[in-house]
Amino acid sequence: MTSAPDVIVVGGGAAGASVAYELVKRGLGVTMIERDSIASHASGFAYGGLFPTMGAGIPGPILSHAKRGISLHKRLAPELEDATGIDIELRAVRSLDLAVNEDGYRHLQESVKWQREEDLEVDLLDADGVRSEEPSLTGELTGGLVQRSHFEVDSYKYTLALVTAFERAGGSHQPGDVVGLLRDGDRVTGVALGNGSSVPGGSVVLATGPWSGDGSKGLPHFPVKPKKGEILRLRFPGRDFVHRISLAGHYIARKPDGLVWVGTTEEDVGFDDRPSTAARDSIMAGTLALAPVLESAEIVQHTACLRPVTSDEMPILGAMPGYDGLFAANGAGKKGILLSPVMGRMVAGAVTGNSGRDPIPVEFDAARFTYG
Ligand SMILES: Cc1cc2nc3c(=O)[nH]c(=O)nc-3n(C[C@H](O)[C@H](O)[C@H](O)COP(=O)(O)OP(=O)(O)OC[C@H]3O[C@@H](n4cnc5c(N)ncnc54)[C@H](O)[C@@H]3O)c2cc1C
Repeated sequence: MTSAPDVIVVGGGAAGASVAYELVKRGLGVTMIERDSIASHASGFAYGGLFPTMGAGIPGPILSHAKRGISLHKRLAPELEDATGIDIELRAVRSLDLAVNEDGYRHLQESVKWQREEDLEVDLLDADGVRSEEPSLTGELTGGLVQRSHFEVDSYKYTLALVTAFERAGGSHQPGDVVGLLRDGDRVTGVALGNGSSVPGGSVVLATGPWSGDGSKGLPHFPVKPKKGEILRLRFPGRDFVHRISLAGHYIARKPDGLVWVGTTEEDVGFDDRPSTAARDSIMAGTLALAPVLESAEIVQHTACLRPVTSDEMPILGAMPGYDGLFAANGAGKKGILLSPVMGRMVAGAVTGNSGRDPIPVEFDAARFTYG
């Protein structure tokens, strides 16, 4: 691209990749700028679950967007494979949420009720039912909930496929650390890079993940904080774990790569994204309490990364007040892979002034905050 792009997208994670792809599909000239490499942070190491039944705002305002996210992922998977040859490994998974006491079982009963009201497929099992489905679970149990509305993708392949499809459709991608905005009065006219150069552009979308809240650069400061999470990948041959099994923040799941993924942690430790021995030990303790059979498993990979979590746990999308031509695509917290296709469409609609089926709802609207 020789002339200035219509839009500069800052950040090559799932949020930026999805917005960039949607913009280029609408015929705009788009440059993506990423300071590390594509999907080198949370978007490359997330579990990749597309779960409409759990997390902040569910049941509640996030539920309909989560359902929309799944239907868009189903459309995107073949579209991206046709465009790029990359299989993002979208597949249905059966999740089994466990209860280990009467309170936990009552909670599962309440979940069954609201999920059925929402037409989500779900079955409640007693302890014997759980053990017959998953014989490796030998700890104390009162029951389990099998959820059949869940899907997952490989989050790294998904983000890479979006960026590859974006480039094949005419978008460009360049390395660079964005350290400021070019402005003409209130109008944003491009970005300044850390190497002293600048990139002019018609509009700018900030999809900078948790770093949008670090306040250390000449960029607007978002009410977003990093929430660190770690995952272990285990080699454990066998046929155990047909479900993705979870209890109180711990989960066990066999992925298409043949490895058993176990997680996770949630920590407020700033921008430190190094794997820690404390997290490894806590994940393994939770895992072995559920499934002692994994004692003999070998840890083959240990990852850590940062979720971008907003002060009200809702994404921040669209036109940013106080700046003409500046847009946000941020703050999806623990659901950034699931929600990214929805976020891409919503933000592309805001940039082009044509929202179609996906207008930005008030609960996601960037206008609910101010940005210093
Ligand atoms: C352990 C764990 C498990 C998870 N599991 C799931 C899951 O199962 N399902 C789900 O939906 N979500 C999950 N998530 C959440 C999901 O990973 C995130 O919500 C999502 O990846 C955030 O995407 P993003 O593009 O906003 O941020 P990121 O992936 O962090 O991308 C932001 C990018 O911006 C770049 N950047 C930042 N500042 C600048 C700058 N100034 N100049 C240039 N580039 C810049 C960064 O280098 C980075 O590449 C999980 C997260 C964690 C940590």
